[in-house]
Amino acid sequence: MRVEKPPTPFNTTEFLRAASSIGITTSVAMRLAEGLYVNGFISYPRTDNTVYPSTMNAKEIISLFLKSEFSEHAKTLLKTKLVPTKGKKETTDHPPIHPSSLVPRDQLKEDEWKIYELVVRRFFATFAGETVWKTLKVLIDINGENFKANGARLVDAGWRGYYPYNKPEDRILPVLEKGQKLHVSKIELLDKETQPPSRYGQGRLIKLMEDLGLGTKSTRHEIIGKLYSRAYVHGNPLQPTKIAMSLIDSLEKYASTITEPDMTKKLEEDMDNIAEGRTSEDSVVEESRTMLEAVFKDLSANKDQISQMLKEGVHEDKILGKCPLCNSDIIVRRSRKGGRFVGCTGYPDCTFLLPLPKTGQIIVTDKECEVHKLYHIKIINKGRRPWELGCPQCNFEQWQKTQQKKQT
Ligand SMILES: [Zn+2]
Ligand SMILES: [Zn+2]
Repeated sequence: MRVEKPPTPFNTTEFLRAASSIGITTSVAMRLAEGLYVNGFISYPRTDNTVYPSTMNAKEIISLFLKSEFSEHAKTLLKTKLVPTKGKKETTDHPPIHPSSLVPRDQLKEDEWKIYELVVRRFFATFAGETVWKTLKVLIDINGENFKANGARLVDAGWRGYYPYNKPEDRILPVLEKGQKLHVSKIELLDKETQPPSRYGQGRLIKLMEDLGLGTKSTRHEIIGKLYSRAYVHGNPLQPTKIAMSLIDSLEKYASTITEPDMTKKLEEDMDNIAEGRTSEDSVVEESRTMLEAVFKDLSANKDQISQMLKEGVHEDKILGKCPLCNSDIIVRRSRKGGRFVGCTGYPDCTFLLPLPKTGQIIVTDKECEVHKLYHIKIINKGRRPWELGCPQCNFEQWQKTQQKKQT
C-alpha cells in the first residue's frame, strides 16, 4: 500500500508552481489570479500563508459550489468533517489562496477559468482524504537472471479525485501468484544513456528562489519575467542565452559576491525586519551601502575584462553557423538604417545575405537545421507568443517560393 497525503493550501509559490505545471507561465498566472481577485472570485493571491485561519468558514465556501459543475465534489465533501491540511508557514497577513465566490465557466476566458478551476480544486483537495494505492513488486527469474516489475493500482482516489493534475501513471499488473510460471513472449535489449538533470521550469525555479530567500512572493515572477525580456533566457524550461552565460562567468570571476544568493537574501531579510520594526531603516541603508561599495569597487577595477567577456557573449549569441559561400561565421547584423539581416563576417569579400523580420527580439536557439546547419531563430514580440521562424535559409527559400507563385 502506498498512501499520498492531500496537498497543503496554496501560497503564492505553490500556486505558481501548480499553474506552471499545467502550462501557464508564472507571470501570466499571477496576472490572471490578480484579475480573479479584483473581481472577487478568489482571495488575495500574494501570500506566504499555508494555514487557513480559524475564522474561515469552509462549509460556506464549499456550499457555493453545490449548484456548479463541481456540485458532486461539493456534495461529497460536505458529508465529511472538513478538516483541512496545514502547510509549514503560518502568517496573519492574508489567508492561503482560496475561492471566494462562484463564477461559471462561460463567464471567464479559457486561461482565467483554468486558474480559477485550479484554485477551486486545490481548495477541495485540502479537505479531502488520502489517496491510497496498492503497490505490487514482482520479481521474475529468467534463466537465473533477475527481472523486476513495479505496479500500482488506485484503491481510493481520495484527494486526487478532486485534484486530477499530474496524476502518476497507474501501471496495472495482472493478478499473479507466488511461484507462478510465466511465459517469456519477447526479449528486447535497450541501449540507454544517463540523462543530465533536467532544466528548471518556471514553477520549480520559483520554489528554488523561495528556498534560497531570493525575491518575495510579489517579485519572484517579475524577476523571471525580466530575465526573459532582457534575453538572458528563452523557452520554458528556461534556457540561458550565451550573453547570460558570459555575464555570470565574468561576474563570478570579477565580482563573485553578487552572484551568490547570500547578499540578496540578506537584503530581503532586512526588508522584513524593517517592516516588523526589528531594525531601523538607517542601519540597513548603511549596511547595504557598504556591501554595494565593495561590489562596485570590484566591478570598476575589472571593467575592461568584464566588457570584453560580455562582448564575446553577445557575439556568440548572434552566430548562426558557417557561411555556405566562404565558410566564415554568419551572424545577425544590423544595417546602418537600423534593419536586421543575416550576414557573413567575411564581408566585404563575401556578400552572403538573408533577410530577417523588422521587429521583435531575435533569439538564436540551439536547435540546428539539418540541411543548412544553421541554428533556428525565434522572434519574441512583447505580449505575443514567440514566433518560431526556424532556419533562416529555409524560411527565405519558402518565402521565395510563395513570391514566385504570386507572379505566375
Ligand atoms: Zn561568406
Ligand atoms: Zn535550413
